[in-house]
Amino acid sequence: MSKHSAIADIRPLNTTFPPKADESIFGYLARLAEANDSRVGEVADRADIKLKKSNFTDADVKRIAAISRQSFEKLRPLAPEVNSEASFVLGCNLDNLGVLIKTRRVCPKCIKGEHGYYKAVWDWKFVQHCQEHKLRLLTQCLDCGKHLDWRTKSIRHCTCGTDLTKVKVEKAEAADLHAIKAMLAIAFSDKKAIPPLLKGFDTYWAWLALCDFACLSLKTRKQIWPGATDPGLKATYGGDLKKHFTPVEQLPPRENARRMSLGAVALALVPEKLEQALVSELRHLDAIGWPKGTMDLYWYRRIKWDDEHDNTPLVKLVDRAKEKAGVKLKMLPVTFGGGRE
Ligand SMILES: [Zn+2]
Ligand SMILES: [Zn+2]
Repeated sequence: MSKHSAIADIRPLNTTFPPKADESIFGYLARLAEANDSRVGEVADRADIKLKKSNFTDADVKRIAAISRQSFEKLRPLAPEVNSEASFVLGCNLDNLGVLIKTRRVCPKCIKGEHGYYKAVWDWKFVQHCQEHKLRLLTQCLDCGKHLDWRTKSIRHCTCGTDLTKVKVEKAEAADLHAIKAMLAIAFSDKKAIPPLLKGFDTYWAWLALCDFACLSLKTRKQIWPGATDPGLKATYGGDLKKHFTPVEQLPPRENARRMSLGAVALALVPEKLEQALVSELRHLDAIGWPKGTMDLYWYRRIKWDDEHDNTPLVKLVDRAKEKAGVKLKMLPVTFGGGRE
């Protein structure tokens, strides 16, 4: 016998309405709660689901459909479904590392007014900014200092009563928006928007590559990409960066080579002219005997190659591309562990 309530026993809420197509499932429950003068926890209880859930089974979604009088089909894409390898949300296949479900993050402008709502992508780890308003998402109340959570009666307020739509938040740096845009393009398979050097990467590899880039020292990153800032990318990939990614300086030499190659993938974020030149350099290498395949395989080979050739081919390749593109960026004369910077 199931320990959950039977669908037939579930009472629908008095006031119901459809979710937005890109709405966070938690934000939707919060909107329902607000419309029914209730707390989101009570609404979740009624649907017999846990608010901190990160995996919604079909049965969970059916119970949400029952309280909200909506179709299962409409709600299913909004609620993350997790297996051992990935999470599926909004039709995207996200690696589990790339998803964060438990906190409440908000763009003050997006939740303003009667049509305001929480976007599903704000629950994703790599999305730290609102692409539309170019603002850093708010994670913490500036008045009471608490991290925002869903124990709220109003989607526009902190539990302490602070009106979140009136809070002034930091503007996003162009570099951060660029990185998130690349990640979203990969997640949504928006082929035209994926930077050429990240083609063929899934969210996991792209995320790793960008994290690697975030592990580079600020000095190095500035050489590669003058617009980069330290707090920006570090914050983008979460405070637990160190747990997953050893700083590049502390890696053994073989690992260094791997990291350096991956860090170079972040060159996808350099000016377009140079990007094109780099891609053509890579294609040239491809033409002279590298196996055909996706860019994925390509970089995998690069990594191996670097590993066996003490990093210098990559540096030369970048130098050639710079020359061809006529770009005078000071960049990448670096080897890690070897001390040349
Ligand atoms: Zn916004
Ligand atoms: Zn507060």
